Amino acid sequence: MQQARKWLRDAASVVVLTGAGISAESGVPTFRGPGGLWRNYRPEDLATPEAFARDPELVWQWYDWRRALIRRAQPNEGHRALAELERRKEKFLLVTQNVDGLHERAGSRRVVKLHGDIWRVRCTACGAADRDERAPLPQLPPRCRCGGLLRPDVVWFGEPLPDSAWRQAEAAARSAELMLVVGTSALVYPAAELAPLARGAGARLIEVNLEETPLSALSDCSLRGKAAELLPRLLE
Ligand code: NAD
Repeated sequence: MQQARKWLRDAASVVVLTGAGISAESGVPTFRGPGGLWRNYRPEDLATPEAFARDPELVWQWYDWRRALIRRAQPNEGHRALAELERRKEKFLLVTQNVDGLHERAGSRRVVKLHGDIWRVRCTACGAADRDERAPLPQLPPRCRCGGLLRPDVVWFGEPLPDSAWRQAEAAARSAELMLVVGTSALVYPAAELAPLARGAGARLIEVNLEETPLSALSDCSLRGKAAELLPRLLE
């Protein structure tokens, strides 16, 4: 912890990559941890274009449930510590795989969302995208003004990432002095490529996770524990 603290303090440019684990202590279940299942469906079977094509109402019921859950959630000390880190660093980017918006609610501003935003909807017919923060939604599946089916404006398994988000994340990873990776299983690609990319370009890597991940062996330092406890200590 002491060594990691010093590395973080001394780094002129920092990139943070977060995953579902940082929101776990806010009560938002991760995909692979306890509470990830919904009515016995695995997220991998619902968060796909194929699932939506087969049964849009079922997929929307799951999103409606997640939106209601996230609506009740509050940012935790981990989210807040990252907002504070941003204030301390001139060169900083927070790259998140999360769709819950809790980083922004904690005060983070320089945020790139790799996997979209659960509070946005996008029309599968005309492509119009809009914010919709209602939870529950009055009608499932929701429809666009044009009559088309709306979908959550998130990236599903098998879909490409938004181009500009990926380019920003990649550029930041290549030029960062230090990358902090928090609460991600590092199994979802291409997000999981960012840490090896940063490492290859000379960045130090600090991981914060409850468990060992494929990134642990690559990291200069792996801190085991809860993000909401470890991140504030890392900034002391
Ligand atoms: P994941 O579920 O695959 O892995 C979560 C990781 O967090 C695990 O490695 C776990 O050990 C760790 N973890 C759990 N609790 C923790 C804690 N309190 N402190 C630190 N680490 C903790 O999640 P992922 O790697 O983000 O990938 C899954 C995909 O699911 C992402 O694409 C993301 O878009 C999506 N997702 C988002 C949310 C959200 O927005 N909150 C929630 C679930 C899934």
